[in-house]
Amino acid sequence: MSSLNLKNIYKVYSSGVIAVTDFNLDIEDKEFIVLVGPSGCGKSTTLRMIAGLEEISAGELYIDGVLVNNRAPKDRDIAMVFQNYALYPHMTVYDNMAFGLKLRKLPKAQIDQRVKEAARILGIEMYLSRKPKALSGGQRQRVALGRAIVREPKVFLLDEPLSNLDAKLRSQMRTEITKLHNRLATTFIYVTHDQIEAMTMGTRIVVMKDGFIQQVDSPINLYDYPINQFVAGFIGSPQMNFFTGKLIGTKNKVCVQIGEEKVELPKEKASLIVNLDKYLNTDREIIFGVRPEDISDEASDIKSNEKGCIEVFVDVVEALGSETLLYCKTKELVKANEGKESIVDDINNLIAKVDARSETKAGAFAKISIDLNHCQLFDKVTEVTILARDEENKAKIEELQAKREEEEAEKARKAAEKLAEEEAKAQALLEKQRAKQAKKLAKLQKSEQTTVEETTVEEVAEETSSEE
Ligand code: ADP
Repeated sequence: MSSLNLKNIYKVYSSGVIAVTDFNLDIEDKEFIVLVGPSGCGKSTTLRMIAGLEEISAGELYIDGVLVNNRAPKDRDIAMVFQNYALYPHMTVYDNMAFGLKLRKLPKAQIDQRVKEAARILGIEMYLSRKPKALSGGQRQRVALGRAIVREPKVFLLDEPLSNLDAKLRSQMRTEITKLHNRLATTFIYVTHDQIEAMTMGTRIVVMKDGFIQQVDSPINLYDYPINQFVAGFIGSPQMNFFTGKLIGTKNKVCVQIGEEKVELPKEKASLIVNLDKYLNTDREIIFGVRPEDISDEASDIKSNEKGCIEVFVDVVEALGSETLLYCKTKELVKANEGKESIVDDINNLIAKVDARSETKAGAFAKISIDLNHCQLFDKVTEVTILARDEENKAKIEELQAKREEEEAEKARKAAEKLAEEEAKAQALLEKQRAKQAKKLAKLQKSEQTTVEETTVEEVAEETSSEE
């Protein structure tokens, strides 16, 4: 048994950086949890707090129901694997793996049995007498994993363990770690910035940004039901295409207007829009999101999906063998880009991942079909989804929207306050400068007058003396 409960966890570094804010997560026994997000979002800090390598500023951490905030790392029954393997260079693989157990004074026979068993699982039995420098990167990382396995911990913590490996080895090690998790049947918490690692390995994924959890979900739910624009853009490659638009039409015929184009949402999809009245035929803008793989250029799709087709200009066609990528521009962007000479400024705003044998040619307009059953809609201001998963989920989305709207209003209020404060400060400074200048001028005028008077006295005196 090894469950973890993180309750309202915060990390504020002594420098004042708030690295993690109100982190709440219950991790069940044997789960493979992945913390994912861009660099600096607080993943490693969270992992290090679980390991006990970093103090928890506020909140509670329970392992198997026991509060461990103040427990030393060695007493938490966890093992951590880092990106830079951190093997002892002067020790053999065997000794590297046995070292921690020797420190714990385990009987020799037990150490030997555990090291050999771990080596067998990891397929490194034949390297046990080698030193780390005689191993490849992948083999070294296996030794680092072995060192963690022999401790038979309750929880494995892995901090970007594959980042130092090349792409091929990384994908191989990915499957090895998944197999290892299945074999050991222990709780794994894995940190990565790589969404592919997260999607392929995690049973549940925690997406983080700026120290805040954005969404905790299974890989497929993150992909199908991203809670906000950030998650939608972070999961999936190439990234989801986003367009600013508006909802127009009637309750029974909801259309998305994007520039000059209009597509009609399937009825079932439209019925899942939360607070439709707020958006339908109003000024409130939405973000329309569509994944590259939900776009098709095949004639049969275009024919059967008339209401979901738009025309785009195809700039570049990249045939990758297994698929083809089309780099396109919407008509609006074509107009906006007219006359731009540099290829850097000449951007694309739509990528389509189409069939490998696509016949679409670059340099011309083409009709494409969008699978609107899988499109996403976000509020432009809050960036939160306005599409519920189902009827029951509507209230939750509504609540989140309201919360984010409040936050946005508070942000705007604070920004306005700050601006007013700055303006007042600038005004006060200006007045102070003016007063100072006026004072200086008055002083100058006074001194000029005195000089004139003094000169006159001097001149008179001189004249008088010369007369004498
Ligand atoms: P990630 O693992 O997602 O890249 P980290 O957890 O390492 O992010 O860092 C989160 C934030 O905390 C960043 O802004 C980082 O600069 C800051 N940070 C990390 N470690 C320290 C530290 N020891 N002292 C001060 N700030 C730190």
